[in-house]
Amino acid sequence: MNNKPSLAGLSPEDILSMTGIKERYRGRQIFEWLKRGAESFEQMTNLPAALREKLADSFCIFSTTVETAEVDDDGTAKIALRMHDDCLIEAVLLIDENERRTACLSSQVGCAMGCSFCRTGMMGFRRNLSSVEIIEQFMHLQSLYGEISNIVYMGMGEPLMNTGEVIKSLEYFTSEKGLGMSARRITVSTCGITEGIKRLADEAPPVRLAVSLVSADPETRTEIMPVTRTSSLDSLKTALMHYQQTGGRRITLECAIIGGVNDRREGASLIAAWSEGLSVNVNVIPWNPASEIDFREPTMKNLEAFCRELERKKIPYTRRYRRGRGLNAACGQLAVNLDKNKS
Ligand code: SF4
Repeated sequence: MNNKPSLAGLSPEDILSMTGIKERYRGRQIFEWLKRGAESFEQMTNLPAALREKLADSFCIFSTTVETAEVDDDGTAKIALRMHDDCLIEAVLLIDENERRTACLSSQVGCAMGCSFCRTGMMGFRRNLSSVEIIEQFMHLQSLYGEISNIVYMGMGEPLMNTGEVIKSLEYFTSEKGLGMSARRITVSTCGITEGIKRLADEAPPVRLAVSLVSADPETRTEIMPVTRTSSLDSLKTALMHYQQTGGRRITLECAIIGGVNDRREGASLIAAWSEGLSVNVNVIPWNPASEIDFREPTMKNLEAFCRELERKKIPYTRRYRRGRGLNAACGQLAVNLDKNKS
């Protein structure tokens, strides 16, 4: 276990105040090295050797260490990170057919939301991640696999149950003092925490929003997504209207389609009616099987009827490709064995 303070994820100013270095330009130099994926102070060749040594004695680059790194045949990479308190989390690099490289980041160790179709939900909840622990996932992926253009908060955990730290990490990714990425290239995905959506709209950089809707039928949704009991479909719609009225862009409605649960044409009609007045794109995702979960994949026939109904109602939709299944890195499949989380 490494107890030295880490510098990854800090702005040049924060590096100066953390290390006590007086020369302002040194903060920027160290920041640039970290941004480029340096893994040791030894690599920072434009710093005097004595300073590199001093830094190495008192600080480390990352507070997390890469425990495993695997790459699937389709290029998807999954890493498991060990945290300072021995907890384990996962992060994924997705490469789509246009070669767009997206980091999928976790925001919590486990998840308390209990969606019944999700492997992470079965882990239970251990703790929230700090903004630095979120940022380090991106930096590890980038230093292992090269430059990354996009970020989605769709790994382990519900980002909007950890809104404060998620907003801090968004500020780092988008601000000029941080990585200076465009907020348009970042998507926060939620199961529908209405308070968090409002806070994101009011306080965060203008990132994209994805909502795991799954079903617009209150009974079905409550059954498979217990969050519906506290954040009802009506209050969710109100929060999304607020997000769009405050400048939010088109919202992605994620719909994991599960055989015999929400794969009927009528489900698509309900989604169309519920989303009236919102600018949305429905992401139709055939549910990814997981051995521990007693659901089945939808049939191709039902999936096609579902999509045809969306089309008939003039609701834009995307049929999502399946990537990373070999690594259990596809949607709803991120989970580490909680027994390995020893804290
Ligand atoms: S789908 Fe998201 S919110 Fe639901 S249990 Fe899984 S990680 Fe948590």
